[in-house]
Amino acid sequence: MSPTPTAPLTLLCVHPHPDDESIACGGVLARAADAGIRTVVVTCTAGEEGENLAGIDLGEDDLAAHRRRELVAALAELGVDGHHQLGYRDSGMVGSAANQHPDSFHAADLELAALELAAIIRAERPQVVVSDDERGTYGHPDHVKAHQVTVRAVALAAEAAAPVAGAPWQVVKRYSHTLAKGRLLTAHRALLAAGLASPFGEVSVGGVEELPLGTPDARITTEVDVGPWLGRKRAAMAAHRSQIGPDSFFLNTPEELATALFATEQFMLEAGPLGGHERPETDLFAGLAAAPPSPGRADGQ
Ligand SMILES: [Zn+2]
Repeated sequence: MSPTPTAPLTLLCVHPHPDDESIACGGVLARAADAGIRTVVVTCTAGEEGENLAGIDLGEDDLAAHRRRELVAALAELGVDGHHQLGYRDSGMVGSAANQHPDSFHAADLELAALELAAIIRAERPQVVVSDDERGTYGHPDHVKAHQVTVRAVALAAEAAAPVAGAPWQVVKRYSHTLAKGRLLTAHRALLAAGLASPFGEVSVGGVEELPLGTPDARITTEVDVGPWLGRKRAAMAAHRSQIGPDSFFLNTPEELATALFATEQFMLEAGPLGGHERPETDLFAGLAAAPPSPGRADGQ
């Protein structure tokens, strides 16, 4: 089964918590939206185990309700066309009691969650799907589960016999967003040299093998320039104020350094054909899209 010529180009990104869409894929979502590509975000949990880092007065709200409003603002900033919530509970960090909550995403039946996502895929008909890498980027149980559920859902969506509403749909390219170790090391050193906080702390790191996070550079298949959309990505991250405080390196890195460090988003193509002969690809829709993105709505940052 292949997409019909009349199916609009669609990018669907699956993320475990409100804020992950902006941190991991904010650039490619805004870029795709400006290229006239439909963009859809699926958020697996409400993020209720996050911390209210900024100490925001939530009033009558619980954290989940507050984060929902932050998410709506972030999606608007990125020009996202469609949003779905899978409705699971945030599983919290590895080993926390929240992992065992019966409604947690971590405890959810993989097949049931994948069937739910497969129905969304059949309804939205994306050619390109993005989720976490197999290690959940930094090991959070919900990020690992988002990867597993997405892999299975893409397969189920294409299976004619699968008990999923809607016509079968074959996703053409499935990616994991990730961070290359080389990039992380460069960012760590540059942040410390600038006197800024690094997510790895103030320690000297001798080489990429010492980094606790990251994917070997050789596994990166795709690097997308999101420089013209970086301002919108950071604005979307800032909308998640309860999670990404103003002193976060995401937001307090001076613009010039941020552009140098964060102006590309990195991916591994895990299913489907690499577009063209060059590696890394420079567009998730390489081989699929006819029109290049227009930075018409970008803010020039
Ligand atoms: Zn997350």
